[in-house]
Amino acid sequence: MNPSFDPTTLQTDLFIDGKWQSATDGATFPVENPATNEVIAHVADGGPEDAALAIDAAGRAQAEWSKSTPRQRADILRRAFDLVVANTDRLAAIMTAEMGKPLAEAKGEVAYGAEFLRWFSEEAVRIGGDSTTSVDGNTRILITKEPVGPSVLVTPWNFPLAMGARKIAPAVAAGCTMVFKPAELTPLTSLALVAIFKEAGLPDGVLNVVTTSSASGVVRTWTDSGIARKISFTGSTEVGKILLRQAADNVMRSSMELGGNAPFIVLADADIEKAVDGAMKAKMRNMGEACTAANRFFVHRSVAEEFGEKFSKKMSELQVGNGALAGTEVGPLIEQAGLDKVESLVADAVSKGARVLTGGSRPEGPGYFYSPTVLTDVALESELMTTEIFGPVAAITPFDSEDEVLRMANDTAWGLVGYVFTESMDKAMRFSAELEVGMVGLNTGIVSNPAAPFGGVKQSGLGREGGKIGIEEFLEYKYTAIAV
Ligand code: ADP
Repeated sequence: MNPSFDPTTLQTDLFIDGKWQSATDGATFPVENPATNEVIAHVADGGPEDAALAIDAAGRAQAEWSKSTPRQRADILRRAFDLVVANTDRLAAIMTAEMGKPLAEAKGEVAYGAEFLRWFSEEAVRIGGDSTTSVDGNTRILITKEPVGPSVLVTPWNFPLAMGARKIAPAVAAGCTMVFKPAELTPLTSLALVAIFKEAGLPDGVLNVVTTSSASGVVRTWTDSGIARKISFTGSTEVGKILLRQAADNVMRSSMELGGNAPFIVLADADIEKAVDGAMKAKMRNMGEACTAANRFFVHRSVAEEFGEKFSKKMSELQVGNGALAGTEVGPLIEQAGLDKVESLVADAVSKGARVLTGGSRPEGPGYFYSPTVLTDVALESELMTTEIFGPVAAITPFDSEDEVLRMANDTAWGLVGYVFTESMDKAMRFSAELEVGMVGLNTGIVSNPAAPFGGVKQSGLGREGGKIGIEEFLEYKYTAIAV
């Protein structure tokens, strides 16, 4: 057990209309530590009745919250930012205990998540509008922005703090009330974040949270309510499609951050040290459990051996273990299903001719651990070419020409992010233009940044989070025609 993790200070209840409360039927569900398989808490298991209470509260609070001033909303976000930063160690310990990532990475996520609170505290006071004149000069056109209204937020388990912060912050800045359902595997960090918002002075009813072991019933109650005007979801493409269909029934605004199948392309002229460093970050951040994780490594045949050797050496040196222990660089996967999937993807690739340069197995003992793995000569027909690996496995496929690699990179239904390593400005610009993705990392393995618009094209999603346009996802435009 993590020494800085204190189970006695955890929030484990639902948060509705400013009050912590049990599920109506008193049900709870267990939360497990994926490094030890120990149950670390029992959390309120909300159902449709609780969901209805939450959306009613959000609906009631909207009118008053719409009238809050930009400065009030900015100040709440700024206080929340300060509180999150002041609570870094505690939040990171909770995150490591329920999700598995090493403490250093958990602290990094706290800092990253907190930045969304600060960023949107700065955006809240700059919403603005526009005005213009009709072409015949007879009408003045005034454009104002209003909060879209009560918003449904659904988040995944891989970044328990940042994914919540990235949705709550722009919704608060825009003046929307919220119902929030965090992932059932990692509810504790989200509940701790919500407690911070209460402490920061967020009015009752503005942010309501229902933790549950049965996501579909709770979220369906919200999308069917007629009260919610917006859904913002981060998770799998499969669930995103279900929620888009549900949202259609009430024509709700939808933001979707879905899966990825990121290509990581190393051109013949790349700086190999830089490429290996980028590969470590793009693959191993969060144990590979990220939608931005490099999923397919395409390396020019002339440098494939050198890249594979240097990359697998670094991967083999990583310290795998309980994320709460000093020195750990790679924690466990989130659950047995994730581990089984990674094992079967590796077995499939090997059966189709891939060579294992390092790893390729799971260590003995408790926890859902898998060794950092590099495969090379991976055939295009391998399942991992069309599946999000979501684990510490890098699959290298050598290529011969730039046209060929662009074709292979774009041959996927997803389009979140692509990474390109080259020392040539011309090639960098060509790949940046021709990759069918929402984000490109040029000579870098990390693209996430609160100041940047995060999001994908194709089946990777709709809309953007962060950056100048992040707040727009929670705003509606209204235009008033004024006779001149
Ligand atoms: P992941 O693969 O990251 O677990 P999921 O898409 O399964 O992604 O989960 C992301 C979020 O969506 C979680 O909060 C989960 O509880 C929720 N979720 C899963 N299935 C549904 C559903 N049918 N309706 C609403 N939410 C769902």
